[in-house]
Amino acid sequence: MATSTCPKCSGITFEMKEAERIKGNAYRMMFIQCASCGAVVGTADFFNAPKLLEKIAAKLGLKLFD
Ligand SMILES: [Zn+2]
Repeated sequence: MATSTCPKCSGITFEMKEAERIKGNAYRMMFIQCASCGAVVGTADFFNAPKLLEKIAAKLGLKLFD
């Protein structure tokens, strides 16, 4: 499988950082950015939706994964 690289500096390490300056966005978001130069390569929700579903399922007594 190919190694993911930053399109700006060719770095291969990435990090998540809360996006604090997205105008008009009512929800907290995370940037996925190059750990070397900070180029943003993607976004993600601030809250991890699968983890929230797992917690809700557990409270309902459901098991999502065997
Ligand atoms: Zn970079």
